[in-house]
Amino acid sequence: MEDKNSVLLEELKNLKETIWVNPKYKAFDLVKEKLPVSYEDVLEAEERFKRFSSYLKAVFPETVEGIIESPISPIDHMKKRMEKDYHKKIYGNLILKRDDLLPIAGSIKARGGIYEVLKHAEDLAIKNNLLKYEDDYKILAEKRFRDFFSEYTIQVGSTGNLGLSIGIMSAKVGFKVVVHMSADARQWKKDLLRSKGVTVVEYASDYSKAVEEGRKLSDADPNSYFIDDENSKNLFMGYAVGGIRTKKQLEDMGIIINEENPLFVYLPCGVGGGPGGVAYGLKLVYGDHVQCYFAEPTHSPAMLLGLATGKHDGIAVEDIGLDNKTAADGLAVGRPSSFVGKIMEETLSGAFTISDERMYQLLATLVDEENIHIEPSSLAGFLGPIFLSDRDQNENATHLCWSTGGSLVPETIRKEYYAEGKKQQEI
Ligand SMILES: *Cc1c(COP(=O)(O)O)cnc(C)c1O
Repeated sequence: MEDKNSVLLEELKNLKETIWVNPKYKAFDLVKEKLPVSYEDVLEAEERFKRFSSYLKAVFPETVEGIIESPISPIDHMKKRMEKDYHKKIYGNLILKRDDLLPIAGSIKARGGIYEVLKHAEDLAIKNNLLKYEDDYKILAEKRFRDFFSEYTIQVGSTGNLGLSIGIMSAKVGFKVVVHMSADARQWKKDLLRSKGVTVVEYASDYSKAVEEGRKLSDADPNSYFIDDENSKNLFMGYAVGGIRTKKQLEDMGIIINEENPLFVYLPCGVGGGPGGVAYGLKLVYGDHVQCYFAEPTHSPAMLLGLATGKHDGIAVEDIGLDNKTAADGLAVGRPSSFVGKIMEETLSGAFTISDERMYQLLATLVDEENIHIEPSSLAGFLGPIFLSDRDQNENATHLCWSTGGSLVPETIRKEYYAEGKKQQEI
């Protein structure tokens, strides 16, 4: 164990792309009762999303019937091309979950972030006798509610996408909203938020600092609510709903998952809430027939490090000499969530790292082969089927890469991403 970890740590320090297989993985039945979250919690979250659907339909007509969900696309051309480029066979089927297309926020954060804002709005309105669970929530779009919510503030620390999702949703509800952005957050994300009336505070340092400052300022104001990306059960539940909904979507595509037909899912991971929530939801509906892997940049393998050492948020990538600098801005996190890490401890099958150069190459390949444009972070999972090809050779398997963001990226930046990808392919 010690030996194995020392090899792993050397590889991480040397920025080598590597896969870690979780030695603590257990059958889900043995694990689920011990976890601080339950199936009931996830079903309750899905019910809450349903209560809000008439409101969401009214204020965001781009949602389908007020439901925030994304399609799943087959990517056969991408599969063939990857097999050729990597000289590996991908056993089974390769498909892509399109959270880059999620309405409102254009990233996986549209699940957790929006869920938590809605829940907070509901809690406040109910506590103040303005709303009942049985009401048609469409009324929340009325001016009297916006006036009521304008007395309250929501604050969050973010590398970008969480800020977008919480900022856009909170501003729509009527909350005052302050987003504390780390240095790696993209300018266009800050500009977009400011255009919606969101206050953006910029920090010269990384994500952990932005969170810390945001929390401090929020705690000092009794009418302010801090959304804590590192510890929030609500965020986690919003993401988990995405996991449980996947089953019906796959069934509608004729994909049945069972012992003979396993599912492998590859999820880009930052602090852990998004991929952790989704993975948990998937485990609830598929148990051991789904194997989940997290993907992180070679410069920011925070969750992998926390899990492999068992130290969770007691260790950061800087502690092993890494700089936490990556073009995958959604994944630029140096210290993982211990709340999520502990849930994943015996649930996650493994985790791997991928270089920024590789993410860019894959970004351009996905455009060339499938005409799908997603942001660099979103590509992290694509190395999963390549790593797994030596380990699991089941022709009946389905490999699902979870795309996590991209549809809000402005056209000029999209072109820059593609150009960088073509450049990286030449090297
Ligand atoms: C936030 C984010 C992730 C990872 O979610 P975490 O909850 O931070 O682990 C992955 N991809 C994109 C594009 C993101 O914005």
